[in-house]
Order: sequence, then structure tokens, then C-alpha cells
Amino acid sequence: MNMIRVTKQAVATALAKASKSYTIAGPVKARAGHEFRCLGQGQTLTKELDLEYTHTRLSPKALLFPQAEPMFHFKLPETTGEPGDTPPAFLEAESFGESPLAVVGLRPWDARALDLLKLNFDTPDYTDPFFMKRYNAMVRVGLADIHPDPENFSLAAGSGPFDEAGLDILLADAGDAFIGKVITGKGRDFAGAAGFEPGSPADEKAFAALKAAAEKEADIPPACDRINDADTLDLYHADFWEAAAFSCINCGACTFACPTCWCFDIQDEVNQGKGVRLRLWDSCMTDLYSAHASGHNPRQEGYQRFRNRFMHKLKYFPDKYGAGIMCVGCGRCITQCPGGIDIREVMAAMNTAGATVQQEVSP
Ligand code: SF4
Ligand code: SF4
Repeated sequence: MNMIRVTKQAVATALAKASKSYTIAGPVKARAGHEFRCLGQGQTLTKELDLEYTHTRLSPKALLFPQAEPMFHFKLPETTGEPGDTPPAFLEAESFGESPLAVVGLRPWDARALDLLKLNFDTPDYTDPFFMKRYNAMVRVGLADIHPDPENFSLAAGSGPFDEAGLDILLADAGDAFIGKVITGKGRDFAGAAGFEPGSPADEKAFAALKAAAEKEADIPPACDRINDADTLDLYHADFWEAAAFSCINCGACTFACPTCWCFDIQDEVNQGKGVRLRLWDSCMTDLYSAHASGHNPRQEGYQRFRNRFMHKLKYFPDKYGAGIMCVGCGRCITQCPGGIDIREVMAAMNTAGATVQQEVSP
């Protein structure tokens, strides 16, 4: 194990040093709760950064996949009949110049979620240049959650408060210092640039104790063991969907807050002959999302869109990618839903339906 430590007093100096080679992003206190932002340099940087945060309202996915992203600009044909610009296939993403982006204070499940997003943006058939440029340039400095929120079920979702899978460094708050591990070569480079000190065997022990305590606190298993083996159409036609969706108003808040939701649409905005093609977050919870040009909508009813969201996360995605569920258990959709919808309850209903179907077909 490659242990490191940095006292809380020394964090400002360490990040100021690292900011000579990296753009630094991290959690800052904003008007409506904490959110991830790219930070300034020197004093400004550490004044904004708040590593004592509990959770962020929106996930850090916007650092790779912005809410609104210009893909290219164009000019409409002139009135003279001359053709306008030919749109390029894509415009190189202009995000944060040439320096790599170090995201400090990422929760481990949010880091894993970035890798689940990648499954959609980097496939054998297509690579999204906007997403992948940022993905490759990102260094992820995680901060373990030593007291997970009650709505957080990340451990049961295949991640956890000390999950290392999507991180280059994992730090934990040990009182007067952050102690942690370097996980990858990218992490080693960042630790070197920041001048983190080597950790001691006592730090290693303290880190393991913090991990065991946090995982015990987070150990709330929603049952989803039967969903995998259940027949897709049986789950789709199960009779609980309308009742489960009763209080859902299809506002889409859950999808915008979710670190693993990736729906987007593409729109052209034109003003005085000049235009920009934008990629914008979208939500499968809205009726327009699935409306066809003919006017037909295969998910006309709210409960059908509700069903699609959960079937995608808990059945279609695991079946397609074999990478677990499309949910890291962050709990944002639970705390932010105005209708009181709890994904753990939907999961339990799907699991029960899966179990019932299996019993019916068993000899
Ligand atoms: S589940 Fe909740 S947050 Fe999501 S669309 Fe329905 S009401 Fe909105
Ligand atoms: S589905 Fe809900 S709990 Fe799961 S990752 Fe998305 S917001 Fe978090």
C-alpha cells in the first residue's frame, strides 16, 4: 500500500503547488447546497474549496458531460444564395485548456459513476470526443465518506464509502489530517505535484479502521438479487408499476441529479444568421423525450416513463453491459424527489416480482 498524508493546515499549500500543473476542481458551498466547480488559483482556490461537505445536490458528472455543450458554430446561407459554413464533424472540446483537471474531494460512488457513464460515451462503435477528452485528462482525488447519509446505499449498489474503483487517490478525514492511498500512476503524479507526505503504518491502521466503521454504517442492503434472473418481459408487465408511479409527477429531477443518467438531446439555436449546435441534458421522465415526429408516443403515460427509468437502471443496463446496475446508490434521487419516490422500494418491488415469476416457473 502506498500511504500518504496531508495535515489540514497544509492542504492549501499542497493544492496551490499542484495548481501549477493541474486545474483544480472540488466541492464548494453554493446558494442551493454544495456543488462541484472548477476553482481559481492560490488563495481563491482554497477559500472556495470545502472538504467538510457531506454531499452535493448535483453530481460531478457535469465536469465530463456539461448541462449545455456547444458542439460547433455555423452560419446560415446568405441571402445571395451562397452556401453557409459546412459544419465540421465535431469541434474539439474546449474545456479547461491543456492542463489536466484534478477533481479533489470526489465521493467514491460518484467516481465509479463516471466510469459507468463512459460505457455510453466510449463504445466499440463510437467514441464521443467531448466526453473522452475530459475523461482522459481527469485525475480523481477521492474523499471517503466516513458517515454516509441514511439515504445512501452505495455499498449495496456495488460501490461504497471507501470504494477505490474509479479513483486515482483515496483520502479519508482522520481529524487533523487527511490520510489515504495512492491507487494509480496518475495519483502518484498528483501526490508528487502536491507534495503530500508519505503515511506511516499507524496511518494505514487508522485508515482501515475508518473504512470498517463507515462500511458497517452503510450496510443497508436493498434486495435486488432476483432482478438479474427475472425475465425482462415478465418484469415489464408486472402489475405494480402504476401504483409505484402514482406520486411521480415526471419532473425529471431524479435524472438530472443522478450521476449515472446520460440522456441528452441536440438542438440548434440560431440568431441573426448565426447558429450554435448544442448538446443538452434531457430526461426520459418527460413526455417529449420519447415522442416520435409522427406524434405517436410509445411512453405516453407517466407510469410508462417511470417504468422505463427503473427498468433501464436495474434490468436493461445490467443485461447489456454485465457491469452491475446503473446506479451507485448515492441517494440523490431519494432526497430530491418531490413525490417521495424511493428507488430502494422500487427495487424491492421488482425483486419481489422477479422472485414470484421464478417460483411460478420452478417445478
Ligand atoms: S421519480 Fe420523483 S424526481 Fe423523478 S420524475 Fe418522478 S417525481 Fe420527479
Ligand atoms: S438512481 Fe438514484 S441512488 Fe442511484 S445513482 Fe442515480 S441518483 Fe443515485
